[in-house]
Amino acid sequence: MKMVVPRERDQGEHRVALIPDHVEQLVHKGIQVAVEASAGSGAGCPDEDYRSAGAEVSSRREEMLAAADLVAGVRCLPAEDVVRLRDGCFSISFLDPFHSSELIELLRSRGISAVSMELIPRSTRAQKMDALSSQASLAGYVAVILAAEALDKIFPMMTTPAGTIFPARVFVLGAGVAGLQAIATAKRLGARVEAYDTRPVVEEQVKSLGARFVKIDLGSTGETRQGYARALSREQLGLQQEALAAVCAQADVVITTAQVFGRQAPRLITAQTLSRMRPGSVVVDLAVERGGNVEGSAVDRIVETGGVRIVGLANLPGRVAAHASQMYSSNVFHLVEECLRQGERGIDLDPDHEVLGPCLVTHRGRIVYEGINPSVSR
Ligand code: NAD
Repeated sequence: MKMVVPRERDQGEHRVALIPDHVEQLVHKGIQVAVEASAGSGAGCPDEDYRSAGAEVSSRREEMLAAADLVAGVRCLPAEDVVRLRDGCFSISFLDPFHSSELIELLRSRGISAVSMELIPRSTRAQKMDALSSQASLAGYVAVILAAEALDKIFPMMTTPAGTIFPARVFVLGAGVAGLQAIATAKRLGARVEAYDTRPVVEEQVKSLGARFVKIDLGSTGETRQGYARALSREQLGLQQEALAAVCAQADVVITTAQVFGRQAPRLITAQTLSRMRPGSVVVDLAVERGGNVEGSAVDRIVETGGVRIVGLANLPGRVAAHASQMYSSNVFHLVEECLRQGERGIDLDPDHEVLGPCLVTHRGRIVYEGINPSVSR
């Protein structure tokens, strides 16, 4: 089996799908690995390290793609690359399956088996492969570091001859993987942290990190079978926005991470809420790429409204590309390692594997992910 790691094409994407350590382990398993020249340079992985790990390093992207049995990327290949892949090739990457209909149609029509890393089951069995979690925890960390940098105060309490400084107040909305890491990071920096989530089960996790859990009575909210939050009704969202405004008014930093899988992110912070916040305070919107939790937040911009800074920078894990690549590469490595089988062409990936199967979006000329094609029966 020939596995190809192309250089990421998206501007500002410094992560790489496979680091040299994992290349070496795959080579030991009998997989031929080819890496496009400079693919890892933004993540602290020079070509030389890939060569030493046993990979072929080449600048001939088109040839490499045409010869691939498996392509591993952080983001999906652009259309002009997809058409170079051969029928039956596996592609592993984030695919953004609910917002990539044209690309998915192309992958289907070219006979590519496209794996979406977003669809790795959130189960104990699949934890090692869970790229949403590995990247979200880094995003939570980076969000706090960005907020600390943008804030006109310090986070910890300080008692000095020049007076006492009280700890900054940080409010984290959405206590999933990113939110919990944001809470832990803000606590480590000495802030006083509060957090809120619609899923009552996270209260214990929030408290165990030393933060206060803010309770808002919205009636039934619940979670899906996969543990994701359900979308709230219009009335519930209204109630929530009002209650959150009061907590935000007291906060120096608000970090929003609320997402509803496969849907537009809920709007939690309105312009009215922002107007109640102290000038100089900071809001970081981690959901900005999904429509935003914060009114007025804009992708890849820091917007100021009434003196409140709204940070809408996208791809926060990409800002710590070395560690983000290390973790993502580990997710990809474990996925490939788990799903290897002896197939018609020697080593191959098993499309019926219990983790790989549910992540396949296209396979053998069909869209096989029921979230996009409900009529599918696999
Ligand atoms: P996510 O990114 O989909 O959402 C982030 C958080 O926002 C969630 O906690 C969600 O409840 C919250 N949220 C949604 N709407 C909201 C609203 N209107 N107001 C406030 N908060 C709102 O979540 P995630 O981090 O991907 O985690 C999703 C689930 O998967 C969680 O239950 C998590 O524990 C679970 N999970 C399980 C595993 C595992 O078992 N291996 C691994 C990772 C995550």
